[in-house]
Amino acid sequence: MSNQDPATFFKNISAKLAQSTPANQNVSPLLTQVDQGNGASQQTSSSRNNAAAAAGGNSRTVHASALIERVRYIRNQPKNTSPIDASAHPSLLPAPAPHHRNKKCLILDVDETLVHSSYQETGKHDLHLSIDLDENTTVNVFVAYRPFLQEFLEAISPIFEVVVFTASLGKYCNPLMDAIDKKRLLGNLRLFREHCSLVSSTFVKDLSLLGRNLDQVAIIDNSPVAYLFQQRNAIPITSWFDNPDDDELRRLIPVLKALAEAPNVYEVLDNYNALLQLQQQE
Ligand SMILES: [Mg+2]
Repeated sequence: MSNQDPATFFKNISAKLAQSTPANQNVSPLLTQVDQGNGASQQTSSSRNNAAAAAGGNSRTVHASALIERVRYIRNQPKNTSPIDASAHPSLLPAPAPHHRNKKCLILDVDETLVHSSYQETGKHDLHLSIDLDENTTVNVFVAYRPFLQEFLEAISPIFEVVVFTASLGKYCNPLMDAIDKKRLLGNLRLFREHCSLVSSTFVKDLSLLGRNLDQVAIIDNSPVAYLFQQRNAIPITSWFDNPDDDELRRLIPVLKALAEAPNVYEVLDNYNALLQLQQQE
């Protein structure tokens, strides 16, 4: 495992599975609430880092038999548990642009995935936004960028149809993303709080409503509740606040390159998430 690139690594797991699997098994007012300490967010930073490292070819051993067993378990989970009939719902996204037609759709969360924003000045911010909430109220927001943010955006923008999807408000997210993505590498597909489904007072990003085939969609989000209805499309990432040594965005790049080349997202993500889950147990 240690000398393989991620695409080969994932392909080999799939090949082993094919050999061993019987044929018949197949809120604040503006920003998102931080789910630090939330039971739904159980994976530790180190476990995710280790899994990402494994995918990149640099980690401790996970037994192949345990990995195959876990992948098999994940593959038996439903792909979509949304209570909403997507065929009776307008698509959240317009039809794909011509240059995106053969690319997978990558959903990117914002708060604690790409940046950390605060109403208080910390002295470490990269961006200051002054946002009018209404005629009489202006709020200051101080934004710190997660390490390797620009490198990450430059790596993913040519190979995916990227959609920024936040449970925050557009009046915060739009100036923020305009500042981060000055060259408009990501295009202009953005979804906000009003596009989320409200479930027990939390915001769920229902990927079945995007107007894309689910097997061509992946989501990077620090909050597991965001992908509650389509967990097999998830690329978990730890919540980032201020750690200058964090490198999860950079570590995800080879995984995403493998994902972009795969026939469908489950070929890579079922294996990737099996690995994450096993390393979480160690
Ligand atoms: Mg978030």
